[in-house]
Amino acid sequence: MNERQTDILIIGAGFAGIAAAKKLHGLNRDFLVVEARERIGGRTLTETFEGDITLDLGAKWLGPTQQLVWEWVYETNAATYETYNTGRNILSYKGKTSHYTGTIPKIGILSLLDLGNAIKQLEKLAATIDTQQPWQHPQAERYDEMTLRTWIRQHTHTEAARHVMEIGIQTVFAAESSEISLLFALFYLRSGDNLETLISITNGAQQTILKEGTQGLLKKVAACFADRIVLQSPVEKIVQDTIGVKAHTAQSIIRAQKCILTVPPALLERIRFEPPLPQQKAQLCQRMPMGAAMKCFAVYNTPFWRKHGLSGQVVSDEFPVKVTFDVGHGDKDYGKMLVFVEGNDARNFIGLPPDMRKQMVLEKLVHFFGKEAAFPIFYTDKCWTEEEWTRGCYVGLMSPNTLTHFGPHLRTPFGNIHFAGTETADRWNGYLDGAIQSGYRAAEEVV
Ligand SMILES: Cc1cc2nc3c(=O)[nH]c(=O)nc-3n(C[C@H](O)[C@H](O)[C@H](O)COP(=O)(O)OP(=O)(O)OC[C@H]3O[C@@H](n4cnc5c(N)ncnc54)[C@H](O)[C@@H]3O)c2cc1C
Repeated sequence: MNERQTDILIIGAGFAGIAAAKKLHGLNRDFLVVEARERIGGRTLTETFEGDITLDLGAKWLGPTQQLVWEWVYETNAATYETYNTGRNILSYKGKTSHYTGTIPKIGILSLLDLGNAIKQLEKLAATIDTQQPWQHPQAERYDEMTLRTWIRQHTHTEAARHVMEIGIQTVFAAESSEISLLFALFYLRSGDNLETLISITNGAQQTILKEGTQGLLKKVAACFADRIVLQSPVEKIVQDTIGVKAHTAQSIIRAQKCILTVPPALLERIRFEPPLPQQKAQLCQRMPMGAAMKCFAVYNTPFWRKHGLSGQVVSDEFPVKVTFDVGHGDKDYGKMLVFVEGNDARNFIGLPPDMRKQMVLEKLVHFFGKEAAFPIFYTDKCWTEEEWTRGCYVGLMSPNTLTHFGPHLRTPFGNIHFAGTETADRWNGYLDGAIQSGYRAAEEVV
């Protein structure tokens, strides 16, 4: 068994782990990053297919207020472009197709008023949340004992408004509204500014795309300390005493004074801790399941829908294609149609044979965009529930009774072990920006 020694051990080479490493590197501190996968990036994965079709199979977008990611973009001179957001969007509801512009689909005047009112009320509640301590809210217990779905049912009066709201929520959380507590939803919306920001392209979380992908950005940031990253080394056990920690992988034991653990809470229990994790922390991890999302890409020679005045965006109630985006760069780039399949749809869809999935997606795209959609030059899909070292996405969610009772244990260190990862962020929780914030915070804690 190979033995290594370092001052600070970082477990996980996603955005949180690399942010912690970057901070420690800047401070000239001794550290080592240990990563389970054969690559860095975690929930980011940028792949190039057929020679020059670059796709983000994991995280893709940056929003204008995600300052920490933008700092990395400027530092590395990473090229960006804006998500295509011109032309008419498509709404497909109850078998009828219509067109609209803006963020909110046109669903009939009564339903539209109903939807607008529900969104306004949700935004108002979210604005009252202190994201550092959501459990301190005077109504925390009340909001945390109900699911977001219960709240939506109570505050919408038309089926169409409820339906569109559910699709929006699925897109934001990659989960059903019945899976998450209202308090957690309010915290999450507030941590990313507000619901409108989270669902929007212009001035929203889907505004900007990195030409070389989000994993490409991370690789650039990590390049100057690449020799301190050990890949293909899942940490199986962490033993700690008063002087430090010993992390065991299949090949080695790494001794360190401090450890920054960036593994998502749902996967933490796969590591054996000696002594065991405090019971509150362990119970918290048991209550933070990952959402589920699939990204499907149909790539065409040109973004042909643009010449028909269409934005490439769809909101629909038809399985499996409920939300789409045009993620290509300029009219001369390939036409890159991104389809999201989320929540229970993703869990069901991934079980189908790959050819059937492709056929089902293309059939719907033909229905929305015409016959040209039947002939992509490339198709792929990716389901994150299948990834051994992630097991879902975008983020660990909280069911009722979790944030109020276990929330304070999210960031509390356990001896020499400090916790990071986007799930621990109070700003842009669930996003790349939140992951960076958490990595910086944990690095500051250990030094
Ligand atoms: C499909 C998809 C779309 C998304 N879209 C966006 C988006 O557009 N914009 C945005 O900002 N965010 C988006 N996100 C969310 C974003 O990817 C995450 O918030 C962020 O990547 C989390 O980073 P992290 O470092 O906290 O966690 P992770 O990226 O999960 O990193 C944790 C690391 O720990 C490693 N690990 C796990 N267990 C062990 C172990 N036992 N030993 C050693 N290593 C271990 C993992 O392999 C992983 O590399 C998306 C995510 C997905 C999957």
